Amino acid sequence: MNLKFLLTFALTAGSLSALTAADAFAQESAKLTGTVIGTERSFDYDAGQASYDVNTRANAFDGDVNTFFASDERSHTWVGLDLGTPHIITRVGWSPRNDNNVGSGRVVLGLFEGANEADFSDATPIYIVKEGAEYGVVSHADVSCGKGFRYVRYAGPSDVRCNIAEVEFYGYEGAGEEKYATLTGLPTVVINTENGEEPQGKEKADEKKSTIKIISAEGELLSAPGTLRLRGNASMQFDKKPYRIKFDKKQRPLDAPAKAKKWTLINNYGDKTLIRNLVAWEICRKFPQIWTPYGRLVDVVVNGEYKGTYQLCDQVEVKEGRMPLNEIEPEDFAATDAADFDYFMEIDGYAGNGDPWAVPENWESGYRVPVTLKYPDPDDLKEMNCPAPYEYIKSAYQQMENAVMAGGFPDNNYEEVLDRESWLVHFLIGEITANPDMYWSTYMSKKAGDSKFYTGPEWDFDLGFGNDYRTYSRIFSSRWTYLMGTPAGANDGNGWNNPAIHNFARRILTNDSRNLPKAKKLFLDAIDNGLTANALDEFIDNLAAEIAVSQDLNFKRWKILDQGVHMNPGETIRGSYAEYIAQLKEFIRHRLSYIDTTSFAGVETDGIEGVATDSEAAVLTFDGGIEVRGATQVSVYNLQGMSIYNGAAGRIATGRGIFIVKADGRSYKALVD
Ligand code: CA
Repeated sequence: MNLKFLLTFALTAGSLSALTAADAFAQESAKLTGTVIGTERSFDYDAGQASYDVNTRANAFDGDVNTFFASDERSHTWVGLDLGTPHIITRVGWSPRNDNNVGSGRVVLGLFEGANEADFSDATPIYIVKEGAEYGVVSHADVSCGKGFRYVRYAGPSDVRCNIAEVEFYGYEGAGEEKYATLTGLPTVVINTENGEEPQGKEKADEKKSTIKIISAEGELLSAPGTLRLRGNASMQFDKKPYRIKFDKKQRPLDAPAKAKKWTLINNYGDKTLIRNLVAWEICRKFPQIWTPYGRLVDVVVNGEYKGTYQLCDQVEVKEGRMPLNEIEPEDFAATDAADFDYFMEIDGYAGNGDPWAVPENWESGYRVPVTLKYPDPDDLKEMNCPAPYEYIKSAYQQMENAVMAGGFPDNNYEEVLDRESWLVHFLIGEITANPDMYWSTYMSKKAGDSKFYTGPEWDFDLGFGNDYRTYSRIFSSRWTYLMGTPAGANDGNGWNNPAIHNFARRILTNDSRNLPKAKKLFLDAIDNGLTANALDEFIDNLAAEIAVSQDLNFKRWKILDQGVHMNPGETIRGSYAEYIAQLKEFIRHRLSYIDTTSFAGVETDGIEGVATDSEAAVLTFDGGIEVRGATQVSVYNLQGMSIYNGAAGRIATGRGIFIVKADGRSYKALVD
């Protein structure tokens, strides 16, 4: 203890409302004093105007709970202390402005931060106020951040003019150690942008230079320079913005598999459970998968303001630990044959913000499907003056699309250019989650030396699990989500898109009678692999427990819990987070059962209508007939049991209808439409 501490304690002890047992600790940690810093321009409520004399920042440190600091600006204002030297903060105190008209809620989400730069560009949060506070007294909380800070502050929550009567910091001098505290137990992502300006758009020109910090649940810190911009499409329009982080150098945050520059912060604004994407990816992991992105729930603070619960997530891109495709250095583009590239693309209904043909990396397929090339990067191809890969993949995609759309299976040999299994997994994930975006955004890839297009990864489930009013009432009356029509396909009548993607799906599922049985087999295998309502209940309950404090703060920041936002169906609006979680679990339980008993009704994987796996006969349909491959003896019967055909495999004209096909002793059902 030094003299400064003794004096400080003697001066302030009398003003504390009650000394508790915990204050034994605080006696080692004196109430700290320093030079008052913070937002200069205050607000004079009596005069109704800005001021530098009334309700100033000094009022927050005068020991009087009846005087307060109010800032002229409504948001992004703060008050704090320059302690002269770094101090480890052990406890903070706050007292709201005593104004019964507004209530004590003004301190909710008030954020205590420490820094060693005077402009708080390196600020780290040390505590967030979670509840409204009592008037006329100072409320306290212990702080467990081990790092010493010279500058400490209380940053007012959004839109309250700070309005704080007293702020207190307790602690002791020292540089401390690199041990930090999270706000809610989830990892905390802290972004301080240059000049405190927040990005307004998602283009490179919108980027703001930033210091990005990620505090793990264990209190470890990753801190690195980078940039911040917005991201997303519809989600970008909400008050709670989705962000994209780009570190200057590759980083591996938390337990992510990838070490990369680009990361996303998904806002999950319309998803009141905040976890639909993570649940969908858990479902994906029960299926054969090309790659399932990394996602982790975090709290986000930008420039001293709490922004809510987010999902720190991979950027969907070709990178080690992400989409597993071969990367070629742009310098080597020109010397590489177009067939030797790996390609990654997105069937992207949002391409070009509604005008998919306006940007060069997009093209319109022959069936008017918007395709966006993601890898190789069209900008790199352009820079290297290397158009061949772009033309190559465009042509290869067209051949694939033509093969699927041509009908007359199997003459077109579509399965030589489309991997059936990964496409069927995409189909199943879309169906299980009842995701109306399932064909709005579909990722596909093609590897060098492999003629097939593969489907995946799966992405964007905020409208899934019954969260879209446009489809909500039909989910359990339509056999398949994809057959519900708009918007469950890149097809919303905007003029530039059309039902082509939907037709693409329909061709695959109805023109090749092997596909639904194969999909059912994949579904049953996934159940064997743990895709059960009970297992998902447990997964959801664990996430809900992990997020408990954070979601409470999130919905204090964004007061939308009992409101319909984005595409929320009115029938699903509830008043509490727990009810949304219960609703999600109920949806999944009902959905898994529905898919099994209703969607797959009549689709058999063995027995009389046995499965046609790849190694067995292929029973395919074309307009007006059936084609059987891979069998020597074939019989076809109509549903009345009348023989239509008996002979060798090949094309059999049947006309429309449902037929039983017997091929080498096994039976199949075929729908000719
Ligand atoms: Ca005061």
